[in-house]
Amino acid sequence: MSLSWRAVAAAAVAGGLALGPLAPVAGAAEAAEAARGARGAAAVGLALQSPDDGGLSTQTRAVYVVDPEAGVTRVSVDLTLTNQVEDVNEGGVIRQTYFSQISVPVLREATNFGVIETGDGHSLVVQEEPVPDNPWVEFATIELDPRVFHGDGPRSFRLTYDLPNQAARAETLSRANDAFVSLPVFTDGDPGQTSVEVRIPDRYDVQVVGGDLAREESDGQIVLSADAIADPEAFIPVVVAGDDAHLVERTVDLDGVAVSARAWPNDADWADFVIGTLGDAFPVLTDLIGQPWPADDELDVIETSAPYAYGYAGWYEEVGNAISIGDQLDPLVIVHEVSHAWFNSDLFGDRWVNEGFAEEYAAQTLDRLGQAYQPLAPPDPSSAAAITLNDWGNPSILDEQSAANEQYGYAASWYVIDQIAAEIGMDQLREVIDASAHDEIAYLGDPGPEDGAEVTDWRRLLDLLEEWGGSRQAASLFQRYVVTQDQQAQLTARTTARQAYAALAGRSNDWSPPLALRRLMADWDFGRVDATIAEADAVLARRTEIERVLRGTAVDRIGLEDTYESAPDLADVVTAADATLEAAEAYRDAAERYDHSPGILGSIGLWWSGTDDRLADARTGLEEGNPGASQQASATVQQRLDDATRNGALRLAGGVAAVGATGALGALRLRRRRQVAPIRITVRSRRHWPLHMPPRPEPPSLSPLEPPPSPPSSVPPLRPVGSPVEGLTPPARAPQRAPTSRID
Ligand SMILES: [Zn+2]
Repeated sequence: MSLSWRAVAAAAVAGGLALGPLAPVAGAAEAAEAARGARGAAAVGLALQSPDDGGLSTQTRAVYVVDPEAGVTRVSVDLTLTNQVEDVNEGGVIRQTYFSQISVPVLREATNFGVIETGDGHSLVVQEEPVPDNPWVEFATIELDPRVFHGDGPRSFRLTYDLPNQAARAETLSRANDAFVSLPVFTDGDPGQTSVEVRIPDRYDVQVVGGDLAREESDGQIVLSADAIADPEAFIPVVVAGDDAHLVERTVDLDGVAVSARAWPNDADWADFVIGTLGDAFPVLTDLIGQPWPADDELDVIETSAPYAYGYAGWYEEVGNAISIGDQLDPLVIVHEVSHAWFNSDLFGDRWVNEGFAEEYAAQTLDRLGQAYQPLAPPDPSSAAAITLNDWGNPSILDEQSAANEQYGYAASWYVIDQIAAEIGMDQLREVIDASAHDEIAYLGDPGPEDGAEVTDWRRLLDLLEEWGGSRQAASLFQRYVVTQDQQAQLTARTTARQAYAALAGRSNDWSPPLALRRLMADWDFGRVDATIAEADAVLARRTEIERVLRGTAVDRIGLEDTYESAPDLADVVTAADATLEAAEAYRDAAERYDHSPGILGSIGLWWSGTDDRLADARTGLEEGNPGASQQASATVQQRLDDATRNGALRLAGGVAAVGATGALGALRLRRRRQVAPIRITVRSRRHWPLHMPPRPEPPSLSPLEPPPSPPSSVPPLRPVGSPVEGLTPPARAPQRAPTSRID
């Protein structure tokens, strides 16, 4: 609703001027002079804009009696007029000033006028006159007969007229029916001499917008009033009254969402239109947004022109999931408001973001439906109404300036989101919404998205648009339309930090930046970025050394990568990188020594010792980011290699002693099976221990300093000469295989 009508609603009181009836016995010269004086005075009279300037004191009291059941609001305006311009005697010529008309501003739907002079009850003529450039108000111009002269003293008049109930979508400002009343109340008169009263049945729930009215109740009526109004021209409160019990409700199910549309009793078309529009729009909107219906409650859509009184087409209330929209059948408004079920403070923290998304998604939905609508015009950032969107809060007062700011705010919000949607497309925008809805971090690493901030404010939105949505225009759009002067410095710092971040990512090869840095970026904590990048570079330098050490070994990736990428703090990772380098060197040395077999006795000594598995453990420790366990396993390998020759000799001696014991073979083999099987299972299971488990203790049975699980007599029996020597098959060197597949 435009607010411009308010400025011109004030009455202009017409003045009249004429020569006095007493003409001196004088020549034409005086008469001509008098005539010039008349023209000059008349010009002054036409310029009068308020009664105090014109010398007509005007006391006014307007009473509105709202009675929708009778189909009418009855209005009476009591006027007390006093001509304060004294008669002037100019050399025997008496100049008198009188007033012949007074024009009272009324709503243009006013009808059934009558005027009397209350002193004697005689009727006067009243005529309706248009107010230039104002479609909502007209003048009721009263012909003052007889005219009002100075000598009359105060004279009282009563203007009465009716405001018939106005139907939905009538081209008038007021509305009245059993469920709803909206009525601007105003009058004009001298400051401090003007009062207004409104009476309305107390079954209505009454609000007053745009001006204060005292409230009391009497005889089943709510009585609202203001006396001695200081600035009558600007005092135009709107009485908004609802009686929801008289709304006519229809409910439908839209894709499992219960929708209740509650319309005025005289407006079934509205319910048809709302339900039809929502039915068409709902699946398209849900698909575009990509998030399920977010509310638990049913959707309540209420017909009310209360938003119009505040200057809006409609509004959405998160509590109760209710949409209030006026009687105009505007699909863009309906879809815009329902999209606020998603686009509200649960999803985005800033008003402009939610408004921009709501408007964009409403427009996109209607585009896909092929439904005509009136799109917003792009904003003009050079206009006087332009504000940065981060300054666009809820309006506190309803004046011309805030109305213009509101209009600009809606247009600019939509424009920013619309430009980005055109750039990256609705699929990418859906990703942005998804990341915001699931509180996922804006700066992604190799691990799955970590948790980000729970509230997506304009800063996080910018990050998501660029990092998740791939936008290249968002920052410049934000710079131009969104950020305040103070926030420009944050954008500049961000740009610098992002360049450093991108450079680090570039020299990290296939490693993603660490969480510690990604979180600083996501939190806009740019002051610590350089120091964190320095720590990251220290880790990357260690990585280069580690990769050099491990070149040619069986290790094809190092778990330090995961540690680094997911670390919330890099100080520990620098330590871990040092430890990984040491573990890598230990592994390389152990593997090289193991590969260069320690001779026959050494090989026999290594049988069933699990040394190859320990080497595999050392490798796994590196691969899984557990350098401590890796280093311990490498040390074990070294120690077993140290002891291998001695153990080989012991085993060989024990094996020869057992040759004659063929009768006991079966029993021995059974016992061995019972012993060996659990060892193998244990070894395998170790490989699958998750990252960051404490290093398991070495099983005492495998320590080379103690007897192996099988005493020397349990070395696989030697078959009689000529038989296949199945027990002597050496253990496979492949570390992933069991000690031997032949034993069991
Ligand atoms: Zn909105």
